[in-house]
Amino acid sequence: MDFSDFGLHPDILDGIEVMKYPAPTPIQEQAIPYILEGRDLIGTAQTGTGKTAAFVLPILHHILTSGENDYIQALVIVPTRELAAQIDQVIEAYSYYTGVSSIAIYGGGDGKEFAREKNALTGGVDMVIATPGRLIAHINMGYVDMSRLRFLILDEADRMLDMGFMPDLTKIIDKINPRRQSLLFSATMPQEVMKLARTLLRDPAMVKIAVSKPAEGVDQSAFFITDAQKTGLLAEMLADKVGQRIIVFGSTKRSVNSLYQRLRGKGLQVGMVSSDIEQEMREKIMLDYRNRNLDVLVATDVLSRGIDVDGIDLVVNYDVPNDAEDYVHRIGRTARAARKGAAITLVSSEDMRKFKRIEAFLGKEIPRRPLPPGFSAGSSGEGSGGRSDRNRKKPPQRGGEAKRSGRPEGDRENPNRHKGHKNKPDRISGTALNEAAAPATRPAPARTEAPGGNARPTDPASSDRKKSRKRHRGSRGRGANGKPHLPPVSLQTRE
Ligand code: AMP
Repeated sequence: MDFSDFGLHPDILDGIEVMKYPAPTPIQEQAIPYILEGRDLIGTAQTGTGKTAAFVLPILHHILTSGENDYIQALVIVPTRELAAQIDQVIEAYSYYTGVSSIAIYGGGDGKEFAREKNALTGGVDMVIATPGRLIAHINMGYVDMSRLRFLILDEADRMLDMGFMPDLTKIIDKINPRRQSLLFSATMPQEVMKLARTLLRDPAMVKIAVSKPAEGVDQSAFFITDAQKTGLLAEMLADKVGQRIIVFGSTKRSVNSLYQRLRGKGLQVGMVSSDIEQEMREKIMLDYRNRNLDVLVATDVLSRGIDVDGIDLVVNYDVPNDAEDYVHRIGRTARAARKGAAITLVSSEDMRKFKRIEAFLGKEIPRRPLPPGFSAGSSGEGSGGRSDRNRKKPPQRGGEAKRSGRPEGDRENPNRHKGHKNKPDRISGTALNEAAAPATRPAPARTEAPGGNARPTDPASSDRKKSRKRHRGSRGRGANGKPHLPPVSLQTRE
């Protein structure tokens, strides 16, 4: 099957062409026709399956072919800032040739940011991607009109309910057009999600994408421990595993870098792989690892897909991965080709929610390991006791995370947030936002310095086409938030 078989508007196909996607993914193949037909839909799919395009492409098609504009037509509700920013970027890329406008609305930011969001919401932006709390803050001001909304999308519904967003969702849904098309995506379908789906959707089509489960040969287990003690425990675990092939995964470049320094400080031969390391260097490190010149490799999820080293004995998740699928990919580095291997996850109380989601996805509990003497399980309540370093100050949260008055959507801060669009870095390759979500398996596109100093991928042919379209399209869809859409860049193909 090819993207042209869906009958999508040619401006959308132009955008997809630049992405160089070889073919639709299974969720796209199954969901796009239903959404184009106007059906409500329940999609069981993980992040990483191509589900964003599965709903964005047909909605762009509806918006373009209807010729409607100057009001909020589509609302995507998501649990985290990070996901809101990510989806907005993807929409910008796919809609580059279409003139459809979008804005991400999420917590944090200053008064200027809030005013910019208000301008977009009142100025006729086509698509809004929002976290619940921030959207409610705008709704409460009385100027958000969603009475004509045509498309409602709930993304990562299970996670939103997990995070206690149900009351917020109810408030928002009360304010929007009841005669809309509704789509609900969720990695898992527990009872509460099905209940929500029943209240929201009419005669929904169902699409389910099964994600492969971990190989049988992986012996999975977990330690419940404080963040401050993770390195100490890891060093102790590694001490009696000399000669084994071990990979330790962290979720951010920062956490991996700091782990690398600390393990080196303990006298271990360590290699590090993240998207900051040049390809040539990565290859050298991998060669050293294969040749057993390194005791341990620490890596971001750049390495969780696609590396093929024989005989990895142990995978350690130093950070609990954000998605169950990343977990499956990480631990899939061991026990390849029917061999045996072990995967140990270090879980702090902050990691608990993510860990529970992974267990829900696996459909089983990951066995807990008793902590060695001298370590404690901290505040997770799954253990007791103390250790010499328990009075140590908690380290700052990794990856620039910031908490906002206990509200879950405030847990993550997008590093681009305060930079404004002029200086936004590569919007798609993912390294700036969430490395785990976008493994860098392809070289980045060529870049030039655009006026105003922002690096953009180059595509001379496309920029000509874009200019001409802008001329005859006038201000349609672009004035609402004053946000120029960046040209699409090709995204990584999944393993
Ligand atoms: P998502 O599940 O929407 O987060 O997408 C995961 C990744 O798959 C993103 O990097 C997308 O760019 C990429 N992707 C989406 N659709 C396709 C496709 N048809 N072929 C290859 N990659 C895709």
